[in-house]
Amino acid sequence: MSFITQEALEAAAQETWAALKDRTLSPKDRTAIAQQPMPVQPPEVRKYNMQEVAIGYSETQARVEANRCLQCKNAPCMKGCPVSINIPNFIQEIAKGNYAEALAVIRQSSILPAICGRVCPQENQCQKACTVGVIHKDVNQSVAIGRLERFVADWQRAHEAEAPIDNTVKPSTGKKVAVVGSGPSGITVAADVRREGHDVTLFEAFQKPGGVLVYGIPEFRLPKAIVDKEVEGLKQMGVQVVPNFVVGRTRKLKDLMEKDGYDAVYVGSGAGLPRFMGIPGEELVGVFSANEYLTRANLMKAYDRAAAATPYYPAKRVAVLGGGNVAMDAARMAFRLGAEEVYLIYRRGREEMPARAEEVEHAEEEGVDFRFLCNIERILGDENGIVNGIECLRYELGEPDASGRRSPVPVAGSEFTLPVDAVIIAIGNASNPLIPQTTEGLEINRRGNIVVNDQQATSLTGVYAGGDIVLGAATVILAMGEGRRAAKAINDYLAQL
Ligand code: FAD
Ligand code: SF4
Ligand code: SF4
Repeated sequence: MSFITQEALEAAAQETWAALKDRTLSPKDRTAIAQQPMPVQPPEVRKYNMQEVAIGYSETQARVEANRCLQCKNAPCMKGCPVSINIPNFIQEIAKGNYAEALAVIRQSSILPAICGRVCPQENQCQKACTVGVIHKDVNQSVAIGRLERFVADWQRAHEAEAPIDNTVKPSTGKKVAVVGSGPSGITVAADVRREGHDVTLFEAFQKPGGVLVYGIPEFRLPKAIVDKEVEGLKQMGVQVVPNFVVGRTRKLKDLMEKDGYDAVYVGSGAGLPRFMGIPGEELVGVFSANEYLTRANLMKAYDRAAAATPYYPAKRVAVLGGGNVAMDAARMAFRLGAEEVYLIYRRGREEMPARAEEVEHAEEEGVDFRFLCNIERILGDENGIVNGIECLRYELGEPDASGRRSPVPVAGSEFTLPVDAVIIAIGNASNPLIPQTTEGLEINRRGNIVVNDQQATSLTGVYAGGDIVLGAATVILAMGEGRRAAKAINDYLAQL
């Protein structure tokens, strides 16, 4: 598809708006309106800068898009949202131009709309079930719920005086809660528990709070200023944020309760342990886990060539192994760190890739060279132990496996090599083992995830857990949803003490 400028999209939206704004629209009229495309930076420009790729809907685009919603009585979209945002209600408020009211509806269920509106895999959640998409037999024609959510959240940030976020907290209860990990689940728990008047301390291992939102997802998808603002909001509520504090090392979890007087602890320590392939050559210089690669780029600002304290690894040809969001982020980051050729190696086909559809499209537009149905067998190095190539094997798709996806079967004798200077392994993350290892009696399952009941309570009294440390590597909105449930359980637990 050819690139359409922001100006052209706005002109088209203005025209549509002029034609519909004074009319009473029938459902047929509404479904006849095409989905408003998201304005984006041109691919050849954005692949070399860190600014956000998606620019966001204008007010006109948002009003037009909101008018596509049929206000379905059964709201199938809500069933697809893990936190059950009242989607028809907030969209109706946008259609009327009542953005503050729209935000109030969203915030009843989600405190991170600017983030979820950007990174939720909407096409597999709320938008998958949308009636408009079903009528068109095309999920890409569903009402753009995520983009509308983002629009409202961004509008609020630009109109703070008009629509301030209510950060009031109840009078102090004197009870203390420790939250371990400042990702989306920890942020949610900290806010919901603090609101009830409990003292909350948020411990974070890294120097900057925000979890994967800060060190994993790149600036070009999620501006860090948005995450900083959420953390600022927590501080304004009186949450004490303690960076560079590794629970299990700086202080054990049980010491927080037995010696430091915390009445309850929430563990939201995520799934930050990268998996490797175990293939020859993985120890060579120039092989990175996607976690390390992205953390260096995001947290240490390696992309800022003039100012970065930590140098980035110079590589003109980069191979990324994997097919999820992490792999897409690493591949796209490689261009922004100076690569000229980026290969994405994935052993299944395009349809099987778990990454968000929009990220795959954006990666393709930016020039990532997708090599489907192949896998890295061996990483090759020179006499100094520095990566200079990969040996790959081609695959074909066989029978579906336990996940329902057709399993890749190697094609004998199909080996080929590609010259590369760096290899990034993005085949998934496991749960962080430190807290389970240093907390006696904390039950984990065989995958290393903390075991919880339906209230997010662990095997230890007063200790709750949620997000990726419970689910395994999952999504922001699921982590947030678990945080919400845990916070309610913690508040109930503290009320009984
Ligand atoms: P995290 O966000 O992982 O936060 C955990 C925090 O705990 C970290 O800051 C960590 O430093 C801290 N911590 C760990 N151990 C300790 C300790 N012992 N003491 C103190 N602090 C500790 N999801 C989506 O929905 N959409 C996307 O587009 C998407 N893209 C992604 C891209 C990348 C590169 C990655 C890595 C993940 C992506 N995800 C995406 C997944 C999503 O970010 C996670 O599911 C989500 O952040 C999990 O939230 P959490 O709060 O459980 O943990
Ligand atoms: Fe959709 Fe995510 Fe928003 Fe829920 S939080 S409505 S799933 S974009
Ligand atoms: Fe609107 Fe789609 Fe939800 Fe129906 S399913 S209420 S059209 S967003």
